[in-house]
Amino acid sequence: MSISETIQCDLAVIGTGMAGMSAALFAANRGVSVVQIGRPKGILLASGLLDLMGVHPVQENRSWNDPWAAMDALGRDLPEHPYSRLKKEDILSAFGELLPFLHDAGIPYCRRVEQNAKMITSLGTVKTTYCVPKTMWNGVLALENQPKGLIVDFFGLKDFSAGRIVATLRERWPELRAVRVFFPGNAGGKELLAGEITAQILETPESRRKLAQEIKPHIRDARVVGMPSICGMRNSDEVLSELEKEIGIPLFEIPTIPPSVPGLRLKEAFEVGLQAIGVRQFLQEQVLTVNRGDNSELILHLDTKGRKVVVQSQGVILASGRFMGGGLYASRRGIRETLFNLPVFQPGDRKDWHRKELLDSRGHPANQAGLETDDLFRPLNNEGLPAFETVFAAGSILAHQDWMRMKCGSGLAVSTAHASVNAFSKIKEQFK
Ligand SMILES: Cc1cc2nc3c(=O)[nH]c(=O)nc-3n(C[C@H](O)[C@H](O)[C@H](O)COP(=O)(O)OP(=O)(O)OC[C@H]3O[C@@H](n4cnc5c(N)ncnc54)[C@H](O)[C@@H]3O)c2cc1C
Repeated sequence: MSISETIQCDLAVIGTGMAGMSAALFAANRGVSVVQIGRPKGILLASGLLDLMGVHPVQENRSWNDPWAAMDALGRDLPEHPYSRLKKEDILSAFGELLPFLHDAGIPYCRRVEQNAKMITSLGTVKTTYCVPKTMWNGVLALENQPKGLIVDFFGLKDFSAGRIVATLRERWPELRAVRVFFPGNAGGKELLAGEITAQILETPESRRKLAQEIKPHIRDARVVGMPSICGMRNSDEVLSELEKEIGIPLFEIPTIPPSVPGLRLKEAFEVGLQAIGVRQFLQEQVLTVNRGDNSELILHLDTKGRKVVVQSQGVILASGRFMGGGLYASRRGIRETLFNLPVFQPGDRKDWHRKELLDSRGHPANQAGLETDDLFRPLNNEGLPAFETVFAAGSILAHQDWMRMKCGSGLAVSTAHASVNAFSKIKEQFK
């Protein structure tokens, strides 16, 4: 097949998860021309909560209120963790750049800079996180103060039960009640998903009025109401405020199981916002191969549904994730990195990948697998040297971290993307 298009850019970002999206943003903000390629899977599954550093050591399941103290402890106990290569001010500056972008894209976040937050999940468990969508923040405050409260669900709604949340939280928040009401336009209580269509219904004032009429008779002495995270796709903060006005007391969203509306909101915010600042995106696409050109540029070959597109770039941010994202592949012979065939840190023997019990509190060694890097986040070759001068890795593909158990997924993705882009920008300056 002949080449349909050749694109030249400063930086190719491989991946459209939290790490890839953040990297594309940071690079575009620095005037770097960016092409981004990937399939937005992981981000769709996200809860919308941005974790920074919540649990350490994982085998003790010790939860921290102060993420920075947790990182200090991590640095002492696990110096190979990617966070050990970053300073607090680097991480703060990464969030300081991301959050205004998300705010302007219609997803304002709340946080306390020095503290983690605790948020209710759709199971009624409590999760340690860091940045919380503004639409959920009243839930953080309510969990701290436990006023009389009401959790609402809907007839026909799948995978979200107010009764279960209230039952699970009983000891922690005794004065919480559950109620089930009819969702606007669903008086028959037919099956309902906590997805895009349901969220869009609440964007109309008429639907909000109807929903408020359903909820109001049950409020009685409640001081706060929680509901599944379906308050609009766009401008959810405004949609929630309007609904709050209708019912007359503070309201908060509770993240639903993936794929959730907050994940869809993030995906859309990044896609629209990044294209607006000039990032050329190939979504639902894949890089098939990468090789070196004659002038040491990197040449990426893309699979774009019958069109052969070639991207020539000075640098690459590899944010291709782990097993689910597709950055790593596990076969009988071992775990390999799928694009550059970079060495992967992994347990010596396949039988050591997983522990016998799925829920073993120590986690599975395979979840520490990934790329080892230098201080600039450049993946290392077998000699322990940067494999390429201008290839950087960010996010969950990095070795020596179990982001899921440590509750550090987004923080790690955002801050390593920030560090990688800064390192690339510095090296790029030297080319001039
Ligand atoms: C169910 C679930 C819930 C989560 N909840 C939270 C939460 O509450 N809080 C939190 O902070 N984090 C959460 N996360 C984690 C977070 O969303 C990110 O998944 C994590 O931070 C890692 O992101 P990543 O960008 O490194 O990788 P991924 O999200 O896995 O993205 C990898 C990307 O690389 C692309 N890719 C791979 N190979 C290629 C190739 N050859 N060519 C082009 N593209 C390629 C993929 O298409 C994908 O876009 C959750 C994740 C999941 C799965």
